[in-house]
Amino acid sequence: MNLKDLFLDELADIHFAENHIAKALPKMAKAATDEDLKEAILSHLEETKGHIEKVKQVFATFDEKPKSKECKATLGLLAEGDEIAADNKGEPTINAAIISACQKVEHYEIASYGSLSAWAQLLGNDEAVNLLEEILGEEKAADEKLTGLAEDKNQEALEDEGADGEEAEARKPAAGQNKKK
Ligand code: FE
Ligand code: FE
Ligand code: ZN
Repeated sequence: MNLKDLFLDELADIHFAENHIAKALPKMAKAATDEDLKEAILSHLEETKGHIEKVKQVFATFDEKPKSKECKATLGLLAEGDEIAADNKGEPTINAAIISACQKVEHYEIASYGSLSAWAQLLGNDEAVNLLEEILGEEKAADEKLTGLAEDKNQEALEDEGADGEEAEARKPAAGQNKKK
């Protein structure tokens, strides 16, 4: 195993992962009840289809045929996503739960593309670096968009908790509570 072998193995892993993520995202969008969240997931689905194509192009820059290698981590994260969506179905927590599951997938992708980009750089393949950085940028932007949506959706999950909302009101952080003095 040299760095190039490691790189190609990990590229095959993320190629498998992206294909499975593309299959799972429509289910996640369907499970979400919030329109903005559904839209965010579906727009990332379109980006994900682009990632699959770009990953194939990266193989080509190394004169390699696209390969796929089972990514157990992604299968596990997606299985957990299904479980969390089922457990929170019909609950005020559904959107917060789905955001959390999606962000776990994004973070795995961000870690993978970060390593792949660094390795492609060391291997002297600038074309591959550019493609991998393009994907990485979209994964990071998707993650940030989810963080933005979470602000509202987490609050909704909290506010729907008590029947009269008093309990939830009491647990809201007081203004300025988290500000460092
Ligand atoms: Fe992706
Ligand atoms: Fe993996
Ligand atoms: Zn992604």
